[in-house]
Amino acid sequence: MKIKARLYEILENKKVKCKVCANECVITENHVGKCRTRKNIQGELFSLIYGSLISPGSLDPIEKKPLFNFWPGATAYSIASIGCSFRCSNCQNWGISQANPSDNGKNGSYDLEGYENRHISLIEMTVEKLIKRVKKSNARTLAFTYNEPLIWHEWILDVTKQLKEENVKTILVTNGYSTPEASQELIDIGINAANIDIKAMSDDFYKKVCSVKSVQPVLETAKKFKSNGIHVEITNLIIPNLNDSQEEIRKLCNWVVENLGKNTPTHFSAYHPDFKTPSMERTPSSTLDIAYHIAKEAGLYFPYIGNVRHEEGSNTYCPSCNHLLISRSGYSFRKIDITDNNTCPNCNYDLRNDIIGEINKNSSPRYTFL
Ligand code: SF4
Ligand code: SF4
Repeated sequence: MKIKARLYEILENKKVKCKVCANECVITENHVGKCRTRKNIQGELFSLIYGSLISPGSLDPIEKKPLFNFWPGATAYSIASIGCSFRCSNCQNWGISQANPSDNGKNGSYDLEGYENRHISLIEMTVEKLIKRVKKSNARTLAFTYNEPLIWHEWILDVTKQLKEENVKTILVTNGYSTPEASQELIDIGINAANIDIKAMSDDFYKKVCSVKSVQPVLETAKKFKSNGIHVEITNLIIPNLNDSQEEIRKLCNWVVENLGKNTPTHFSAYHPDFKTPSMERTPSSTLDIAYHIAKEAGLYFPYIGNVRHEEGSNTYCPSCNHLLISRSGYSFRKIDITDNNTCPNCNYDLRNDIIGEINKNSSPRYTFL
């Protein structure tokens, strides 16, 4: 659905500058920005995907986002649209992230060589209709996920505002490439949690793999969210030969410790070949082991390993006495050993700043397509 955008500047000759993400695209009349979802129409900027969803939603375990220390065991009503501010050559959701919406948001087609004639039919949803569906599902959280949510700014603000009234928590699963203005609006409206990808610590990686200028806006978003009370977890996808050096992993861990705090859950995910990189190798488990131990050495309380089975890297341990608090198998719990007051039963360590929200101890199967 097409609506007038927020956060843009009007420039000379009917150009506009979008301030929703750190690409800050300058867009001439009748053209779209890098995400393909914001269009300059007669010198004003419009979002083309307000309320335009790829499906009515799905019910996922919150651990799939991944969020391990926020409302553990909760169901996340998950919604997505099309478009992204990045062009990652390894994107695992490229079918939606690199799609191209029509003016009214309907019938996005893939904007990729060889895929020009494929279309995705988008569903038009109102905020009210979505809220009804979320309430009916009994999900305690709603995640904006799968494509890049920051480019869905206006829709996220309106949905979050309404979900606050229903006491449903909102989650962004994001590349973090925000502007300070857009981040502030998300903070002000009351986003509750974010999983932010820090793909690497070098601008070079962001230029080469994601086709954007710099990692810096991502780091700024993570700091701003965390310092304003949003629960932040970090994900780092480790890709062989691109960002898997011990030096790179250590740099990321040290940055998280110094800027976000030791209690920031940090997920290292295994890469599997996709999109424009089908012939690259998977991340070996030895690399993930090394990442786990580097994170521990750096002082991180909650390092996790994703996309592969990893005993220690699936579990949550007490930061004080190393007692096993939550044992997981995939996205399900094997055992939870935390007191009702959210303390460690072994040493009494107060976990209230580390594990946020209620723990749903009966969280078995939570995958449903709606
Ligand atoms: S959201 Fe980002 S990529 Fe999209 S038009 Fe605005 S600045 Fe460009
Ligand atoms: S930021 Fe995420 S969704 Fe966007 S292109 Fe990169 S991997 Fe895909």
